[in-house]
Amino acid sequence: TDTIYTSSYPSVHICRRSIFTHILGVSSSSPGTVGGFPASSPAFIDALSGTTISRGTCRSYALQLAFSLHNLPSPLENRTKTVLIFSPNSITWPIIMFGVVAAGFRATLANSAYTPDELKYQYLDAGAHLIFVHPSLVGTVQTMLKSLGCSEQEIRSRVIVAGVQWITGAKDASVPDDQLVAINQLLGRGELTEEVSFDGERSNETVYLCYSSGTTGQPKGVETTHYNLISVLEILKPVWSNSNPCLTPYIPEQGGVDVLFGCLPYYHIYGGVKLLHLPLFLGAPSVVMAGFDPDGFCAAIARYRVTVGFVVPPMLVVFARHPAIQKHDLTSLKTLFSGAAPLGAELVSTVMKRMKGIGADVSIPQGYGLTETSPTVFLLPVADASSHIGAAGVLLPNLEVRLVGEAKGEAHTDIPGAGEVWVRGPTIMKGYLNNPAATADAITPDGWFKTGDIGVRDKDGFFTIVDRRKELIKYKGFQVAPAELESVLLQHAEVADAAVIGIESKEEATELPRAYITPSRPISSQEASSFALGVQDWVSRRVAPHKRLRGGVVIIDQVPKSAAGKILRRELRERAKTDVAEG
Ligand code: AMP
Repeated sequence: TDTIYTSSYPSVHICRRSIFTHILGVSSSSPGTVGGFPASSPAFIDALSGTTISRGTCRSYALQLAFSLHNLPSPLENRTKTVLIFSPNSITWPIIMFGVVAAGFRATLANSAYTPDELKYQYLDAGAHLIFVHPSLVGTVQTMLKSLGCSEQEIRSRVIVAGVQWITGAKDASVPDDQLVAINQLLGRGELTEEVSFDGERSNETVYLCYSSGTTGQPKGVETTHYNLISVLEILKPVWSNSNPCLTPYIPEQGGVDVLFGCLPYYHIYGGVKLLHLPLFLGAPSVVMAGFDPDGFCAAIARYRVTVGFVVPPMLVVFARHPAIQKHDLTSLKTLFSGAAPLGAELVSTVMKRMKGIGADVSIPQGYGLTETSPTVFLLPVADASSHIGAAGVLLPNLEVRLVGEAKGEAHTDIPGAGEVWVRGPTIMKGYLNNPAATADAITPDGWFKTGDIGVRDKDGFFTIVDRRKELIKYKGFQVAPAELESVLLQHAEVADAAVIGIESKEEATELPRAYITPSRPISSQEASSFALGVQDWVSRRVAPHKRLRGGVVIIDQVPKSAAGKILRRELRERAKTDVAEG
């Protein structure tokens, strides 16, 4: 049988309490602090306006919101306490999220690019009833709720508009229905005296529901618990602090301390943990920005003297090529931390070289993990970033890993020692919401979570991800579930069968979803390309932008399937490699 690997870092103690208490708690033994750092130190900084909220203010706003959530008029009070957050990153986000947590509720985090139908799927599946929505997305929510038969009055009782104007002064998008409740109307009415506690066994209760398709099928609600989150922060710390020895509370006059920054969406576990929770836990401020534009990103690094930037591989392509890099003073930057998708060694070397050229000595380590593992499993310490370019990192403490060889019928023997990464430990999700079958498929009875990724370990304990065995496609770090696109394609009147796979774009450092379809009527060779483009456009109008079939639509006679009717994706991937090579 295969070896069980453990971390070379000693195990750490993990408290059993609410994630809120852990990072925003107060204690009578250290007055004037919040989560162990001065209450007045900055927690979140709005990149555009410079508006800053301190740790103390963040806690206080969260408790004010929690107070109102507990005192909302019926019909809300007796409903399932799951709250949906539908917003691009904003400085209001942490207040909503931690307000929901302080109230003792669950938050389900939805991709802010979703169409009404995509949102409806998650709203219903998660059993949410209350929605915090960014002003620019109110229309999507209204369409979604109307399609469920909600009356105007019901919509008003379920929707809270969460803009930024009340806090930064920057004008919000206008809201179609000005009768809707705005978040600032829920603040200042009172304050919970303390957050709802989740001590002991209660720390195993679910707090966040992000959506992931796992190894197969449709997106599923990942039950992340208080204990999962406290665990990931605690096990990241020794490896992280080793990399960033100057982590101390932010004291502007002293300089030399970390300022964290990224525009990774907070609704994805990577952005949520690294940009909302980790900064509070480490006592470092987090600069808030929605969406990535090269100039704005670099301007924010310069303005706030950012030391650690969190990115996904396609953003590093920008660092490798874009002129914005030369326009701004990026010398404060020490680390560009990549995650959520495979990172090529060549790209890392190019960026490091280019950054050196502008006087920024930047390490580019990466992390590997999944929504289901809260997320980080492997982390490359900064000290090893240059000598182990391309490696996903070392195993974090308290975790165990196996590389399970020779998955059924699929050989990985071309890379000696490679196997499917299985992980066990305190960061593994509780399960998929209301889906015991998918949970049982993903987690063995003795607690091993099967990632669907193929990895290898070198003799020094560095792990590298070499392949992915599951269906999942990652477009710029976003999940694209083939099964979801296939079911959209099958709604097209002229598509009889469809299979979706990812093809690699080296240029953009990402995968692109590509569909192979069998039309339901004969298509002449002259008509083929316009038919394919038509299907591509048709899909684009029905899905969030990251799911578009940027890898193209290809017509085939028959979708290759096993005797049991399962799509032979491997075969299609091989075919795609040849097709792409032939242009
Ligand atoms: P998500 O749940 O959206 O975070 O997606 C998790 C998946 O992203 C993993 O199962 C991997 O396939 C991929 N992934 C995340 N980090 C890395 C990495 N550093 N290298 C390669 N693949 C990664």
